[in-house]
Amino acid sequence: MNKFWSETVQRTEPYVPGEQLDDPTIIKLNTNENPYPPSPKVTDAISRELDHKLNLYPSPTTDQLRNEIATYHNLSKDHVFVGNGSDEVLAFSFMAFFEPGKPIRFPAISYSFYPVYAKLFNIPYEEIILNRDFTLPVEDFFQSEGGVIFPNPNAPTSVYLELSGVIDILENNPNQIVIIDEAYIDFATESAASLIHTYENLLIVQTMSKSRSLAGLRVGFAMGNPNLIEALIRIKDSFNSYTLDRLAIAGAEAAIKDTDYFTDTIEKVIHTREWVTAEMKQRGFHVLPSQTNFIFACHYNWIAEDLYTNLKKDGILVRHFKKPSIDNYLRVTIGTDENMEDFFKKLDKIMNTTK
Ligand code: PMP
Repeated sequence: MNKFWSETVQRTEPYVPGEQLDDPTIIKLNTNENPYPPSPKVTDAISRELDHKLNLYPSPTTDQLRNEIATYHNLSKDHVFVGNGSDEVLAFSFMAFFEPGKPIRFPAISYSFYPVYAKLFNIPYEEIILNRDFTLPVEDFFQSEGGVIFPNPNAPTSVYLELSGVIDILENNPNQIVIIDEAYIDFATESAASLIHTYENLLIVQTMSKSRSLAGLRVGFAMGNPNLIEALIRIKDSFNSYTLDRLAIAGAEAAIKDTDYFTDTIEKVIHTREWVTAEMKQRGFHVLPSQTNFIFACHYNWIAEDLYTNLKKDGILVRHFKKPSIDNYLRVTIGTDENMEDFFKKLDKIMNTTK
């Protein structure tokens, strides 16, 4: 605390991301990155850009990238906004659509950035308690005063809400914005992007960090009615009219175009996820039905924090949240098959010797 800090800074509690340890021998299963590298076409595109263009500003409108994203989702460029990772896109969305004095709603167990942004932008919020099985109590999101935001699938629970539930929330908030954070949607049944033409109150936020293996490049995007996109562009231009750098634009364009590589990577991750889920269940874990690139699991005879600590000692980093109601769960990112075999080897050693 410092006397020069504004009230905003004083009430801000920064988001604490999962640990980033530099040790290359550590198997990192704690921040839901993709274990596979991006498409080789991404690296080629970035190298070409590096060779020629770094002295020039990037496109302020990022039209070409927005076009590529729009085409992939059967939309037009005017339905798409891009930013430096979906965290930035979410921050701009809070600024553009939520207001002080009008409480917004999000799930009590959800992405921990939402309360951080709400406090930062002075937006009151109501945290909606999830059902006992961690599904979303859809009706509790109806008739919100200030708008709604939730991840689908939810994080850290990995649980997916069917589109019928999404539609119910949209229909019952006709004058409020509903932001769906689809960070993990490519590992799930279906995106709500097809609803954009029908619901002017729908904003979808996605990222290239997970399914496209580009966490290091920081590319996220929003999709919605052009009126909503215009609001985001206004906010962006007030901060930095360029937003994405040349390398990110080039890499993201190449990534969105390489659908074969994308589909292949998703299939591999989902295949491993199903295998990991079955293995965890065999060891007595309760595993929530995952539609993401991670699983959320607890064991009635084991303290999650102890498992987390012992795994860490053994060079495997998973995520444990010290939050009541989920503090006996572990979130484990799906790595390569080899990563997960190592994970089970270490887990079995702990479970067989520590007890
Ligand atoms: N939303 C959710 C639910 C997430 O888990 C994450 C990743 N931590 C993000 C958004 C942000 O992703 P990025 O900024 O890398 O696009």
